[in-house]
Amino acid sequence: MPDYGHQLEFGTFVTPVNDPPPAAVGLAQLSEQLGFDLVSFQDHPYQPSFFDTWTLMSFVAARTERIQISANVLNLPLRLPAVTARAAASLDLLSGGRFALGLGAGGFWDAIEAMGGPRRTPGQAVDALSEAIEVIRGIWDVSDRAPLRIPGTYYSVNGAKRGPAAAHDIPIWLGAYKPRMLRLIGRKADGWLPSLGYMQPGDLGRGNAAIDESAIAAGREPRDIRRLLNIGGRFSAVSAGALDGPVSQWVEELTVMALEDGVGTFFLASDAPAVMEQFAAEVMPAVREAVAGARATNGTPSADARSSGSRAKRLDGIDYESVPASLAATAVEPGDAGYASVRSTYMRGGSPGLVLQPRTVAEVVDALVFAREQSVPLSLRSAGHGFSGRSTNDGGIVISLAKLNAIEILDVSTRRVRVEPGALWSAVAAVLAPHGWALSSGDYGGVGVGGLATAGGIGWLAREHGLTIDHLRAVDIVLADGSVVHASDDENADLFWAVRGAGANFGIVVSFEFEVDDQVGDVGFAQFIQDATDTAAVLEKWGATVEASPRDVTSSVMIQPGAQTLARVNTVVDSDDTDSIIERLQPLADVAPLLDQSVQLMPYAEVMANDRGAGPQRGQGEPHARSALVEHITPEFAAASARAIASGAIYWFQLRSVGGAVSDVDPDATAYAHRSANFSLVAIGADDDRLNEAWTELSGHVSGMYLSFETGLHEGRIEDAFPPKTLARLRELKTVYDPQNLFRDNFNIGALEASAG
Ligand SMILES: Cc1cc2nc3c(=O)[nH]c(=O)nc-3n(C[C@H](O)[C@H](O)[C@H](O)COP(=O)(O)OP(=O)(O)OC[C@H]3O[C@@H](n4cnc5c(N)ncnc54)[C@H](O)[C@@H]3O)c2cc1C
Repeated sequence: MPDYGHQLEFGTFVTPVNDPPPAAVGLAQLSEQLGFDLVSFQDHPYQPSFFDTWTLMSFVAARTERIQISANVLNLPLRLPAVTARAAASLDLLSGGRFALGLGAGGFWDAIEAMGGPRRTPGQAVDALSEAIEVIRGIWDVSDRAPLRIPGTYYSVNGAKRGPAAAHDIPIWLGAYKPRMLRLIGRKADGWLPSLGYMQPGDLGRGNAAIDESAIAAGREPRDIRRLLNIGGRFSAVSAGALDGPVSQWVEELTVMALEDGVGTFFLASDAPAVMEQFAAEVMPAVREAVAGARATNGTPSADARSSGSRAKRLDGIDYESVPASLAATAVEPGDAGYASVRSTYMRGGSPGLVLQPRTVAEVVDALVFAREQSVPLSLRSAGHGFSGRSTNDGGIVISLAKLNAIEILDVSTRRVRVEPGALWSAVAAVLAPHGWALSSGDYGGVGVGGLATAGGIGWLAREHGLTIDHLRAVDIVLADGSVVHASDDENADLFWAVRGAGANFGIVVSFEFEVDDQVGDVGFAQFIQDATDTAAVLEKWGATVEASPRDVTSSVMIQPGAQTLARVNTVVDSDDTDSIIERLQPLADVAPLLDQSVQLMPYAEVMANDRGAGPQRGQGEPHARSALVEHITPEFAAASARAIASGAIYWFQLRSVGGAVSDVDPDATAYAHRSANFSLVAIGADDDRLNEAWTELSGHVSGMYLSFETGLHEGRIEDAFPPKTLARLRELKTVYDPQNLFRDNFNIGALEASAG
C-alpha cells in the first residue's frame, strides 16, 4: 500500500451554521490557535441554516492569519466556474496564499434544481466538473495573455479575461467516491477528498489504485495527488469501534491510514472545542511522530511540493532540489501559479528559472550562497523598476528583496530611519509624513528603495535637499562571500563610499539607515502643459528659469512630439504658502504659452502616492534609454535636443533638476561624482541604433551619466557614469569586496585585474 510521502497536515471541518453569534468563525479561529493547518467548511448553497460558504471563508480569512482555508467541498452546479476561479484567486490574494479549492460534482439534485441549478446524471456531473477544472485553470493562467476560449458542453467561455494571478498555486481537491470521478482526479486534480464515514473498509486502497492508474496513464506521478480524508469519531476510555476509543487508538488508526493508504491530510469533523483541543494536543503530534519515525525507517522519500507538470518546466543549470529549506516556501519556479507576477519587471520581460524571495537577512545569505553555486545569471531585485531591466533575466536566478520591506523610525530626535530594500518610496513617504519629515527619492512612488538608494536618487526635493544617497548614514550589506557587514563613515568607510552610487556592484544592501529631512509637509505640486513648438527656445528658457529659481523649486520637463509639440512641466515647490508657490511658479508658467495647468497644495506623501493601483509588473522586451548629466541648457544643447527629438527616434525626452544641494556635496564624497550638473537627461527610444544616432547630436553637449536612467551596460557608458579617479577607486574596491565579480549583471565595473586585461 502506498505512502506518497506528503507532509502530514491536519485540518478541521466546521459546520457553517449561521446562528448568531457565528460559532463557525470562532471555531476557525480556535483551529488556528490550536495549531491546525487548515479549516474547511461544507458548501450547501440551498441550505438556509448555513452561511454562504464563500462569504464565510472570506470573513474567516480576514479574522485569521496563518491557517489555510478550503471549502469541503464546493457545490459546482451552483457555482459558475469562471467566477469561482476569480473568487478563489481573489481570496488567495487577500489571505496571503492560504486558499485551497475543494470542489464537488454535485448531489442533492432536487435542492440544486430548486435553487435554479441544473439537474445532472452522475456521468454528466463528472464531465461538467472536468470542463469546470479546465475553465478554472484557464482563468488562473495569467502567463497566457490571450483571452480564454473553451467550448464546452456544460461550461463554455468565449474570450474571458484571465486573472487575477493567485498568490500561490491553488490546489484543486475533488470530493469523490466513484470510479469515473477517481479517474478524473488522476487526470486533472491535485487531491482526493472523501469522507471516511461514507466508505467501506478497503475503499481507500481501491480509490488510490484507480487514481494512480489514471494519473500514470495521463503522464502524471501518483504522488502529485494529495490524499485527504474527512474523519470523525469519539474519544472514550474503551474502544467501541473505528475512531471511537482512547487517544492511543486514534493515533494508531490514523498512522496506519497515513502510511498504508497514503492519507496526507486529515480533516477532523467536529464542532466541539474540547474534541478539537484534545485532537490537536494529543493526536496530531503523536501521529506526526509515528509517521516520521516509520518513514525514516522505511526511507520513504518526501513528496515534492510541486507537481510533475510544474517540475517539468524547470530549467537547466539550477539545482532545484538543493534550494535551502528556508527559501523553499517562497521560491517561485516557472511552473508555479505565482510565476507570472514575478518573472518580469516594470521595464523588461523576463523568464528566470527561479525567483528566491528571502524574508530575513539570514535568508538573503542563504539565497546568495545557493545562487553563487549555480551556473546561471544572477539578478538582484528590490522593486523591479530598474531601467536597465537587469533585475530579471532569462534562465537565471533572481533574488527578490520585495518581502524585506520594513520601515522603522530609529530615533526621533536625530530623524534616523531604517528602511529595507523592498520598501517602495510611496510607503517611505507615508511613514515619514506624520512626523513632518520627508526623504527626497524620485518622482514615482512605485520605485524601490534598493535600486534607487544604491545609485543616486534624483527626487522632487533634489535642489533643496540633495540626492537620496546624500542622506544615507549607514548600510548593512551582504557581500559576495556571504558575510553581512555594516558600512558607514566610521566602519568600512570605503565600502560605504562605493555603495553610494555603485552599490549594485558590491553586494546586496539589506538595510539603509537615513537621516531624513524635517519640516516637509504640504508642498505645491504643479503640472503645466505648454506649447513647445519652438522646442529649443522652450528648453533653454525652462533651464535658465530653473537655475534662477530658489532651491525650494525642483522641476522636470518632458517634451512630447506630435501634431503640436508639447512640454509637460512638473514642479514641486517646497512651501505650504500659496503666495510663495505662485511666485515661484510664475516664471515657469511664462516659459511658453500655457495650454493646461493644475496646481495643488498637497502633502509631499500624496505627491509620492502616484503608484496607487499599479498592477503586477509586466514589462516586455528590452527597453532602450540613454542618460546624461547636463551643466546648463545652452542654446547649442537646446537646438541639438530639438533636432534629436524631431528625428522621431526618441519617444520620451525628459530633463530633471539636479544642481542646488546636489552640487554642494564634494564629488569625491560618494561614488556618484558628477555633482556640478544642473540637469539630468533621459531619452528613451524603441530602437537602440536609432536612439544612438539621435544621441550623437547631444553627446558633445553633455557630461556624465546617471546609472538609473541608462540601459547601455557597456564599458563606454560606465566610463561616462564614473570619472576616471572614481572608477579606478571603485575597481580597486571591487577587487577587495567582490574579487570573483559575482555582482556583475548590472553596469559591471569589473575588478581591477579584469579591467586591466
Ligand atoms: C517609472 C519610473 C520612475 C523613475 N523615477 C526616478 C526618479 O525620479 N529619480 C531617480 O533617481 N530614479 C528614478 N527611476 C529610476 C530608479 O531609480 C531606478 O530604476 C532604480 O534602480 C529602481 O529601483 P528598484 O529597486 O525599483 O529597481 P530594481 O529593478 O529592483 O533594481 C534595479 C537594480 O538595482 C540593483 N539593486 C536593487 N536592489 C538592490 C540592493 N538591495 N542592493 C544592491 N543592489 C540592488 C540591481 O542591480 C538591480 O538590477 C525611475 C524608474 C521608473 C521605472
